[in-house]
Amino acid sequence: MLTDYHMHLQPDGRDARRAAAHRWEAHGGHLSTGWIGEYVARARSRAVTEIAFTEHVHRFAQARDWLDNPWWREEATEDVDAYCDALVAAREAGLPVLVGVEMDWLPGREDEVARFLEGRPFDLVLGSVHWLGAHGVDHPDFPAWDAMDAQAVWSAYLDELVAAARSGLFDVLAHPDLPKVFGHRMPAALAERLDEAVAAIAASGVAIECSSAGLRKPVGELYPEPGLLARLRAAGAPATLASDAHSPDDVAADYPTAVAALRGAGYETLTRFRGRTPTQETLRWG
Ligand SMILES: [Zn+2]
Ligand SMILES: [Zn+2]
Repeated sequence: MLTDYHMHLQPDGRDARRAAAHRWEAHGGHLSTGWIGEYVARARSRAVTEIAFTEHVHRFAQARDWLDNPWWREEATEDVDAYCDALVAAREAGLPVLVGVEMDWLPGREDEVARFLEGRPFDLVLGSVHWLGAHGVDHPDFPAWDAMDAQAVWSAYLDELVAAARSGLFDVLAHPDLPKVFGHRMPAALAERLDEAVAAIAASGVAIECSSAGLRKPVGELYPEPGLLARLRAAGAPATLASDAHSPDDVAADYPTAVAALRGAGYETLTRFRGRTPTQETLRWG
């Protein structure tokens, strides 16, 4: 089977949401089964039979105080329980959707993260390192790249990625080599650190995400790049497959490229989740 285990019901940022609102309003809102069904329809057209919605935790009022950043607080307008209810209702209506969330790794917030996840019907939880303190790894308005050099960004990022894996809070590490998004490659001097990170991630038991989203970003390649994907496979890390779509159009985008990379890396199965319990399913079209 093929899955898409990372997508969002709306684009990021108020202006982008305002511009796109007519699309979900035509279905009765972004939490309507009709709008969720648009994502399912695009998935099916691309041979994908199960999808997971993984809204950003920063969209939820319940997480508004987790980061001292004006953009973060401005984005925190949604109610996580209404979001979960909408996905459960869509599933009860027969749509093959899982309830997920994209959490941020924010050192010092482990207890809040655990409480947020507790008692909610999540099938899978993504862990993402988007922030290095006050600096954004991929946020163009708060770029780490203006404050730190490439060695410092990548070095801090690898430390936080390993800490996120070891925290046990997450099922999947999303876009594992995200700092390359704007084209800043990892300096060769960090090769040994990357080896250690690969080993630590595999030892933690967390799955890693093969994401086609990087193909739509300035860097123009998969997360992780195929060489790193092969190293994660050799170390024993299970994988998921994802688009990180922010509208139905991008669901399962560029899957021929992503599936070829997974196969090239030696993956014969994808990790499937239900109620945060992983199983392995054969990777194949249809
Ligand atoms: Zn992300
Ligand atoms: Zn995402």
